[in-house]
Amino acid sequence: RTSEGPTKEHQIVVCVRKRPLGRKELADRELDVVSIPSKDMLVVHEPRKHVNLVKFLDNHSFRFDYVFNEDCSNTTVYEFTARPLIRHIFEGGMATCFAYGQTGSGKTHTMGGQFIGRRQSSLDGVYALAANDVFSNLTSTSYVNLKLGVSCSFFEIYGSRVYDLLMPGKPQLRVLEDGNQQVQVVGLTENAVKNTGEVLALLELGNSVRTSGQTSANSKSSRSHAIFQIVLRSSTTERLHGKFSLIDLAGNERGADNSSADRLTRLEGSEINKSLLVLKECIRALGRQSTHLPFRGSKLTQVLRDSFIGGKKVKTCMIAMISPGLHSVEHTLNTLRYADRVKEL
Ligand code: ADP
Ligand code: MG
Repeated sequence: RTSEGPTKEHQIVVCVRKRPLGRKELADRELDVVSIPSKDMLVVHEPRKHVNLVKFLDNHSFRFDYVFNEDCSNTTVYEFTARPLIRHIFEGGMATCFAYGQTGSGKTHTMGGQFIGRRQSSLDGVYALAANDVFSNLTSTSYVNLKLGVSCSFFEIYGSRVYDLLMPGKPQLRVLEDGNQQVQVVGLTENAVKNTGEVLALLELGNSVRTSGQTSANSKSSRSHAIFQIVLRSSTTERLHGKFSLIDLAGNERGADNSSADRLTRLEGSEINKSLLVLKECIRALGRQSTHLPFRGSKLTQVLRDSFIGGKKVKTCMIAMISPGLHSVEHTLNTLRYADRVKEL
């Protein structure tokens, strides 16, 4: 399957993106330990020592649907990951796209683009590129007769609390599950949008709330999952037609780290670990067509429940981001092993 890349029938697509070495890493002459011999393969060269202290390289190879090297643009990454799912939501399906990886590996850069990363207006991230394609599809001959309307939600999960990023004051929202096992984020803002410019304005608004009031903006945002949703509804009946959830996950670096002195940070870390583990189990269950999904195990999977159930009407894509530097090699291997586990067999 890999030589042709993901096609319509694949339910789960798993890709890896390697970012270039950053300015600081270059200044520190950090070694790039990740090589990409082909567009579906990646090798991590881990320097190690034998017991007799002789140094050697432990080479770990991985294969994924796509591997994007440091020269790939956001647009290229988008083409092969989220873009194929746009058609799926127009056909009445549910889609998710996850950006996974350690803090600093490029999740926000990929999802938000320069717009969010550097606070410039740009059509360069997966969020905006997806919105743009949704608006093009809306008026295309294939879908114009569906008479669909587009709206967006943007919220954050921090610990096990949900916050609306599109509401002034960033209120905390409750999550309820009704008798039919439908999960609802009570009062979540769903703003109608007419063009990409309006979507960009919402993204800017949400992102400013996401990080404001923090001395170290990135440290807080890296401890929360940000969920941006593009919702298609029938203009006449308001009935849900399809939904695309695009998720900038919390940094995965807090492995079994118990060294942190700060109790709150430790608690947050274990909450993030739990949600990422449950997410992995949910995606794996999806791949195996299993009916048992442990989605209640975390707030993240609970609110995404309708994007996991529904058999063939559900598709997901994971982009695992990696930092190429030697100092990140442990985290890089963790990220790749996680991504390897969610691959469809
Ligand atoms: P994360 O959201 O995973 O913590 P960021 O997206 O904030 O990481 O990226 C960390 C830094 O690396 C930012 O300065 C970002 O602009 C830069 N960066 C990330 N990915 C790339 C890339 N593919 N090309 C160039 N710069 C990148
Ligand atoms: Mg980020």
